[in-house]
Amino acid sequence: MNLILISMGVLGVTALVAAVLLYIVSLYFKVEEDPRIDLVQAVLPGANCGGCGFAGCRAFAEACVKAGKTDGLACPVGGDPTMDEVKKILSPAAEAAEPAAAASGEKKGFDPVIAAKIKALATPKAVFPNVTSFAQKS
Ligand code: SF4
Repeated sequence: MNLILISMGVLGVTALVAAVLLYIVSLYFKVEEDPRIDLVQAVLPGANCGGCGFAGCRAFAEACVKAGKTDGLACPVGGDPTMDEVKKILSPAAEAAEPAAAASGEKKGFDPVIAAKIKALATPKAVFPNVTSFAQKS
């Protein structure tokens, strides 16, 4: 009986130490990402076809946010309407807007379906756990 209790104790302590180590390592290697990447990705068609010259919609969204503008970037599937939505997200006025409204896309004149999609993406803290303000990143 004692052997079982000792084994359980050793395993429990080992699991606790491993959990604490994993938590610390996850904090150390946490990747901060611009929340606009998710917003841009939300307005893209999601075909992941590579027609834009990137590996997929996520890579295209990252390129748009990194460039800070859409010059020379185009999504042939979504066309001009999609790129207009991307421009709205990347515009400095959008970043300066009230954070919650900017994150939800409500005050930027988005198509209601796209605004709802962005809101669903931006609202839960689980999606953007480290974001307190849309204008926080530059
Ligand atoms: S062309 Fe448009 S739909 Fe295709 S991968 Fe690029 S961003 Fe996505």
